[in-house]
Amino acid sequence: MGLLMLLLVVAAAASAPAADAWGKEGHYMTCKIADNFLTEEAAAAVKGLLPAWANGELAEACSWADSQRFRYKWSSPLHFADTPGDCEFSYARDCHDTKGEKDRCVVGAINNYTAALKDSSSPYDPTESLMFLAHFVGDVHQPLHCGHADDLGGNTIIVHWYTRKGNLHHVWDVSVIETAMKDFYDNDQATMIEAIQRNITDVWSNEEKQWEACRLRTKTCAETYAKESALLACDAYEGVEQDITLGDDYFFKALPVVEKRIAQGGVRLAAILNRIFGEKNGRVQSS
Ligand SMILES: [Zn+2]
Repeated sequence: MGLLMLLLVVAAAASAPAADAWGKEGHYMTCKIADNFLTEEAAAAVKGLLPAWANGELAEACSWADSQRFRYKWSSPLHFADTPGDCEFSYARDCHDTKGEKDRCVVGAINNYTAALKDSSSPYDPTESLMFLAHFVGDVHQPLHCGHADDLGGNTIIVHWYTRKGNLHHVWDVSVIETAMKDFYDNDQATMIEAIQRNITDVWSNEEKQWEACRLRTKTCAETYAKESALLACDAYEGVEQDITLGDDYFFKALPVVEKRIAQGGVRLAAILNRIFGEKNGRVQSS
């Protein structure tokens, strides 16, 4: 590749959104899983807040935040929390935007929108708060949303996914899920969601209660979820270099991680919503 071409590629990658989030499918599946764990009160409260176009389906509203990134430019840094690349996430060190403004990262956003939904005097629009919250709980579980700051969470690492050119971030947002759908789930999203849900009740049944546990009273446990992602991101980067081709070996390593993170995201989103809407009714949710 000539120097000019290389510069163009780097410029294009750098100007792409720093992080897209799970693609539409990842968010949809996370919110569908969450549905299965909502208490009756929380499900009713969520339904009452959803915009009419969601047709009463939380999952339909879970990619809204991505579609607003141009309209709400301020929301762009809230989709991720990149780190210096030491496999760790530290809120005090890492939760800021590129201008250094504190709390402006996905963990701060989850805490912020949770607090807004709990507080009926909050100036925020509760429908938007709900849609942001549901989206960001998905995002914080995507390992490359807590990737390395210097490559914009893998966005500037150009890779070939089998034969198609993309970048490492996109592989984790979209490609692993797409390949799994095609190879194992007959291109049917509902079948993939069922498989993940079945894993929660079978394979991960012992862990599921721990996933949703959170002892913090004033905040969510999103910082812990970001720490997990930062650790998983280190594995995701391992052996990956510019222009590498990723195929079966990488896919079979990544897929179980992606499926588990979608499961954890769903279970935890439900737990957060159950706490928000349970407390309003004076109910203390077991955590
Ligand atoms: Zn996002």
